[in-house]
Amino acid sequence: MDQGMDIPARYFDGVRPVPQPVMLRAVPQGVEIRLSGEVPPIVWPFAEARLDSLKPEARLHRVSRNIDTGERLVVEAEAFASAFAPYLKAFGKGRAGEASGLRIALWTGGAIASVVFLFFVGLPLLARVLAPLVPWSWETTLGKSVEPQVLEMFGKGSAVQLCGEENSPGKAALDAMVARLSAGAKLPAPVKVEVLDTAITNAFALPGGHIYLFRPIIEKAGSPDEVAGVLAHEIGHVVHRDAMRGLIHDGALSLLIGAVLGDVTGGSTVTVLAKMMAGSAYSRENESEADRVSVDLMRHAGADPRAINGFFRRLGAGEKSSPSILDALSSHPVTAERITAVEKLAADAPQGGKPILSASEWQALRGICNQTRPSPAAKS
Ligand SMILES: [Zn+2]
Repeated sequence: MDQGMDIPARYFDGVRPVPQPVMLRAVPQGVEIRLSGEVPPIVWPFAEARLDSLKPEARLHRVSRNIDTGERLVVEAEAFASAFAPYLKAFGKGRAGEASGLRIALWTGGAIASVVFLFFVGLPLLARVLAPLVPWSWETTLGKSVEPQVLEMFGKGSAVQLCGEENSPGKAALDAMVARLSAGAKLPAPVKVEVLDTAITNAFALPGGHIYLFRPIIEKAGSPDEVAGVLAHEIGHVVHRDAMRGLIHDGALSLLIGAVLGDVTGGSTVTVLAKMMAGSAYSRENESEADRVSVDLMRHAGADPRAINGFFRRLGAGEKSSPSILDALSSHPVTAERITAVEKLAADAPQGGKPILSASEWQALRGICNQTRPSPAAKS
């Protein structure tokens, strides 16, 4: 057996649509992936490595605990065969989500036609029921396929940048905040959070759990807890699958299926999503549910659950120029209503609480946009 033979491959980390050159090796535990630099190798256990094709190139994806991680490997066919031939039987079977018989039955059976009919006649309840049945891997795929275009829209033509180099103190502080908030959340998969270097005050969660905070959210916040309150609200949209609910509700199911099957033909899915991300499409009910999650997650993290109200007040007090302020927040009566609702939900929580970040972490987060890097926005 040629164990130990190194072969070159392209690795997609599931976050960025740009491949990294890596070296692969068959080890007894699975496929060892060595990245450049001083990072420890990644090992895909054979059971998690799914072989999509052997020719013209070997293509693999990874499914962990029945969730498509988004990771991909592309390897030259002959090199792959010579290095991995002894192990081919060890590779996992089937595609992501297949283990869930009910979901598949729902989507492949004749049920789909009646389902489509039902929501076109308008049963908002259906979006709520259906969204959780869409396999998470589909939602991830969909999110990734539209992400570049959605980001490009916020860049207004110019390439929009992401704040903070990987492993920088600012990014580490953001990741710490995400981890502390996520600890209390029932997430289908970990969320990924980035700060977008734009002047618009906004935040959104793409399908698949990729959350974007815009730079002014951090700049304008009076405390790390205010940022965390907004972030926790967006995590709430992920928990509730609101992007997917919105898509279904907007009647874009057929486009969704096209996108999942790899056929993103028109800009319609993107248009629907961009409308949602710019904030006008979520219902008041979606928003108050996300606010409720914000309160829960902040409470769970030991921080003050009222923090998000700091943001609501700031936005309610001024800022009319921006077309897209934190979902549908620009309308004042609604904002006042939400502030009251948050106060009520948080009534028994102690005032103040423990700040979500230490003083030095907050300082690092404040500086996150001192460095930027390119976003996966599409080049036009
Ligand atoms: Zn929202």
